[in-house]
Amino acid sequence: HMAEHIDTIEAEVPYEELVPLAHTIQSDRKLREDNEAIRREFTANVSHELKTPLTSISGYAELMENGMAKAEDVPVFAQRIHKEASRMITLVTDILQLSELDGMRDCKEKSFEPEPVDLAAVTRDTCVNMTMNARKAYVTLQYKTEPASLMGSRDLLSELVTNLCDNAIRYNRPGGHVCLYSGTDGDGCPYVAVEDNGIGIPQDAQARVFERFYRVDKSRSKATGGTGLGLAIVKHIAMLHGARIDLKSQVGTGTTIRVTFPKA
Ligand code: ADP
Repeated sequence: HMAEHIDTIEAEVPYEELVPLAHTIQSDRKLREDNEAIRREFTANVSHELKTPLTSISGYAELMENGMAKAEDVPVFAQRIHKEASRMITLVTDILQLSELDGMRDCKEKSFEPEPVDLAAVTRDTCVNMTMNARKAYVTLQYKTEPASLMGSRDLLSELVTNLCDNAIRYNRPGGHVCLYSGTDGDGCPYVAVEDNGIGIPQDAQARVFERFYRVDKSRSKATGGTGLGLAIVKHIAMLHGARIDLKSQVGTGTTIRVTFPKA
């Protein structure tokens, strides 16, 4: 049985069972080939994603403006406006982040000054930072780290682990478990991995979850504060570090995503 508290045990990831995401690499080639169509689809998606909260903000504001809101409704409407506006801020933040990462990929050499990054420390810090999120979802969170380090961006790698951990908590059930791993594999390549025993990803969706705005269950994503961009950001950060992503998932059993970096 997993301990309630965060502890350190030796990493043990069943990574030989994981399937490489060849299809993701393929869809990336397509992304370059069919840039214009992708851009158009992205603009349409962004517009739609922004229009939904804006419509409801506008609706609540109009009700109050026209005096059609009863006094006791006003705080409720204000709260909904606040919530929708927060959703928009999160979305715009993710879009800006992706656009920044896109720019970095175009000039890979100058994008960031690589610094020594202790992946085990990044993993532990993420675990600590996500403790409250896990607690709110009644999910236990722990880490099992072995030493792993590389040259890269500490901020971006911390964001990568945070996004994976956030998903592992959000696509889980009360009483579920999430474990963060770091280590060095048999080939001497550093890796991080996030394992959950949550709802899992259907086989036919596994190739698509790294696409922008792709969601298996739109209502669940939105209800838990998702933008549909978290894994697209993970993929970009992994690519900037020359890393490989492996995913293993089964509906009802859980998901493991591992990011393996090139040997130093
Ligand atoms: P979102 O903001 O919707 O979570 P992501 O890009 O982070 O967007 O993930 C895309 C989709 O992949 C999610 O909507 C969800 O359906 C699925 N997904 C991601 N991580 C997990 C996980 N650990 N378990 C189950 N499904 C997941």
